[in-house]
Parts: sequence; C-alpha cells; structure tokens
Amino acid sequence: MKKADRKQNGTPWTCGRGHVLGLTVTSRENGRWVTRLMKFRHAISETQLVVEVDAVVEGTVREIVCDACPPEERLTRTWWGKPGQG
Ligand SMILES: [Zn+2]
Repeated sequence: MKKADRKQNGTPWTCGRGHVLGLTVTSRENGRWVTRLMKFRHAISETQLVVEVDAVVEGTVREIVCDACPPEERLTRTWWGKPGQG
C-alpha cells in the first residue's frame, strides 16, 4: 500500500485520546492552500471504517465535543480555521 501520494490530505484530527473527530483536507484555491476540517457526525476510533460526514468546515468551530469519549469525561477540541492557531 502506497500512501505517499496522499500528502497532507486525510490527516486524522483527533480529540487527544485517539478518537477521530474528522479529517483535515488541504486543497489549493486561487493560488493559496486552504485547510478545512471534514467533520464527522460522530467521533470514531481509528479502526472504524464507516463514517458519516457532518460538514466540511471552513473557519473556526469552537469546542467540538468528542462523543466517543466516556460520557463523564468528554474531551473537546476547537478547530481553528486559520493556520498557526491552536
Ligand atoms: Zn475522544
């Protein structure tokens, strides 16, 4: 399996415990690179194969809750739409 040609696309964006909240997708638009978050409707473990995409996010989304964490100690993570923050 060669993965080298996928470059930055499809990098898992995790809650900090290894649950995947979405994938980062980088594309070139009007001569600049734009990174968006392809947010899943539900967080998954990295071994899970079936996902439901909630939205492709551009711009900041605060405190996305990981619903794969134990209910009493759910982690949140903020997606910063601009590079170099968080
Ligand atoms: Zn989690």
